[in-house]
Amino acid sequence: MSETLYLEPAEWTTQAACRQSDPDALFVQGAEQNRAKVVCQACPVRTECLADSLDNRIEFGVWGGMTERERRAILKRRPNVQSWSRLLQAAKAEHARVEAASAARTA
Ligand code: SF4
Repeated sequence: MSETLYLEPAEWTTQAACRQSDPDALFVQGAEQNRAKVVCQACPVRTECLADSLDNRIEFGVWGGMTERERRAILKRRPNVQSWSRLLQAAKAEHARVEAASAARTA
């Protein structure tokens, strides 16, 4: 089975769970942000979206299931990360490897 683990920016936007939604719904404030984040929970390209927003220092809106405040906190905690895309791609691949190994053990 061939599975795409990580998509490039030109590809991931076509699979965004929010692509049919009102774009303004992701650029809200306060408690409304928690509602906006719900759509991200099942988004198949959440990792790519978050990485893109972190790499490009996008200041406003909900991206990858995180508010601008949450993203700022991550950037502050990890100031030396050169490429969030590479970091999160590696983490996603490792997660998939561990899941596959776990599934093989229980099969
Ligand atoms: S993670 Fe959220 S903001 Fe990003 S593409 Fe998916 S639904 Fe849209």
